[in-house]
Amino acid sequence: MSAIPPDPKDEFLLFISTYKDSKGNTVYLKKINEMISYRKKSLYVDYNDLILFDMTFATLFIQKTNDLLPLLNNALYEYITSLDPSFAEDVDKVFVRIYNLPRTVTLRAIRSALANKLIAVEGIVTKMSDVKQRLVKGTFKHLDPNCNQEFVYPDQDTFGELIETPTVCPVCGKTGRFKLVPEKSTFVDYQRIIIQEKPEDTPSGQMPRKLEVVLEEDLVDTVRPGDRVKIVGMIEVKQEALIKRGASSVFSFQMKAHSVEVSQRVLEEVNISEDEELKIKQLAKDPWIIDRIIASIAPEIYGRWEIKEAIALSLFGGVPKTMPDGTRLRGDIHTLIIGDPGTAKSQILQFAAKVAPRAVYTTGKGSTAVGLTAAVNRDKETGDWMLEAGALVLADGGVAVIDEIEKMRDEDRVAIHEAMEQQTVSIAKAGIVAKLNSRATVISAGNPKFGRYIVERGVADNINLPPSLLSRFDLIFILIDKPGEEDDKMADHILDAHAGNISDKNIIEIDLLKKYIAYARKNVNPKITPEAKKILKEFFIDMRKKGGESPESPVIITPRQLEALIRLSEAYARMRLSDTVSKEDAERAINIMRIFLQTVGIDVETGKMDIDTIMTGKPSSIREKMERLIDIVRVLAGDTSCARLKEIVKEAKNIGIEENETRRLIEQMRRDFLIVETKEDCYRPA
Ligand code: ADP
Ligand code: ZN
Ligand code: MG
Repeated sequence: MSAIPPDPKDEFLLFISTYKDSKGNTVYLKKINEMISYRKKSLYVDYNDLILFDMTFATLFIQKTNDLLPLLNNALYEYITSLDPSFAEDVDKVFVRIYNLPRTVTLRAIRSALANKLIAVEGIVTKMSDVKQRLVKGTFKHLDPNCNQEFVYPDQDTFGELIETPTVCPVCGKTGRFKLVPEKSTFVDYQRIIIQEKPEDTPSGQMPRKLEVVLEEDLVDTVRPGDRVKIVGMIEVKQEALIKRGASSVFSFQMKAHSVEVSQRVLEEVNISEDEELKIKQLAKDPWIIDRIIASIAPEIYGRWEIKEAIALSLFGGVPKTMPDGTRLRGDIHTLIIGDPGTAKSQILQFAAKVAPRAVYTTGKGSTAVGLTAAVNRDKETGDWMLEAGALVLADGGVAVIDEIEKMRDEDRVAIHEAMEQQTVSIAKAGIVAKLNSRATVISAGNPKFGRYIVERGVADNINLPPSLLSRFDLIFILIDKPGEEDDKMADHILDAHAGNISDKNIIEIDLLKKYIAYARKNVNPKITPEAKKILKEFFIDMRKKGGESPESPVIITPRQLEALIRLSEAYARMRLSDTVSKEDAERAINIMRIFLQTVGIDVETGKMDIDTIMTGKPSSIREKMERLIDIVRVLAGDTSCARLKEIVKEAKNIGIEENETRRLIEQMRRDFLIVETKEDCYRPA
């Protein structure tokens, strides 16, 4: 017998009872006490600790996981129940779960040679099934009047694999029909998730790799779509069933999870060397740094300065804040470009996706059936309901770049409001109830409804997006392709770019710019100075005054724009790597806000036209009526049904809106996607 000194079980017990961390704490005894207090099922063991304690044992654990694990789990259970016998009344088994393996295998590198070895993988959870009960050990009854005996099947515990109904009765030896006796069988919680390569790990232009992972017992429901995870587990080769047609010769990998860690959503993954940090700080000293950054956004595109500025602002972003009552204010700066075809929108967006430290690029339709937010769909293979994360959830902690946003699915039109403001996506369907995080900056572009942008109409009229959604953007810019004096210079610029002749020592090359952005987002959280505050406040009050005092007069800007101004000022300060928002930062923010207000048709000097009219195209009194009508629709429709027009009319009369007007407004709101007609003359809020 080969020497396995000492007995692994004893060695493990010695480890948990004596191992001390660098501060001299017996960490595992502490964790075991927690397990006892909270009746927890798992003991998480850092593999590094195991290596420090006994290298041979640590190596053996990886080589013989399948043999060792049941032994260690039992040893741990005996140990805990000897400390507290009452533990056994509540918990019937415990698990030793190893994490922090020294090497992580990329999803691209998974091969069958790795099968049945304990390995660590990393990725983003994209899909999650509902929780099922998996049969571990069944008691079956032979449905044969001559037998009628019950028996246990299979005779060993199983993990992960699905048990098929027995075909032969072990008692009488005959075939027949067998029925499961649930109350005499053992089940465990069971859930399937799909993880996908992180966007920053996927080579550009390639499809991200995916891996199906099975979670059982207390690992179930520990992760949500959008989470970045590190999972230790065993790879298995799984035969893909051709649905209802038996086995096939196509195989795929599946992992049985052994431990799951959810990583923090900070930009810790971006590696910045000391050298690079020095370069970044040097760059920041340039008094023209903000303009150099803007000039470095898609340098091959001629002009479009304010668009590039908006993109730069979005990439750097403002500072998120948590209020004393716990509400979160987003720091993300959402930008929308609406423009004529061929005005380089897509090209600028592609650049933004390349330079953002963590970006998900998609089009309104979405590259998959999930779209922008999230969806619950049936899995084609298993028939399970799966919750799947869309682009905004996958981009959590980074930037979602959405081209042709006006083409988004109807479901997204509703959910994207919450995703952009509260930065969560709530979903409740088919027994899956979840709230996913979508703390992402939206940089998007859209094409005009009529093919070309028509200046005489408002913004809302020019793009097929609900007005309420437009108001979620901090900056909206319009690109109109009009031939003119600039053509000559633009032609030269394009021709030069194609000849590879754009060289400007002021342009920061893309890799450095990417690190600069990552560095600023991670390390710089500027505070508003009193001088900056004063300027922002004056501008806001001044603009509000221009609207006039009476309640009927239009509102030029709303508190939303003030919040946007704060974020924009912070973003400028971040570009300078400054901890404070200066007067100049605030002035620049006001300036770009003015350009935005002007492009959407507000005369900043006289205060003609108000932002609501521009966004929604309606004067405020009608808007108020619409808001009341939406409330009525919401109440009447409830959670599941829709509100009948007849009843809406009746309710509206009670608050003084006449039938004709109600009918007209309802029709208008339907066209504006404020409400949807789910069946004839029956509506729901959008
Ligand atoms: P859009 O998405 O707005 O329809 P694209 O990004 O597809 O437009 O641009 C079409 C082409 O025109 C691209 O090859 C782009 O480089 C070029 N182009 C348009 N405007 C400019 C510009 N201002 N400078 C350089 N190239 C431009
Ligand atoms: Zn039998
Ligand atoms: Mg395009």
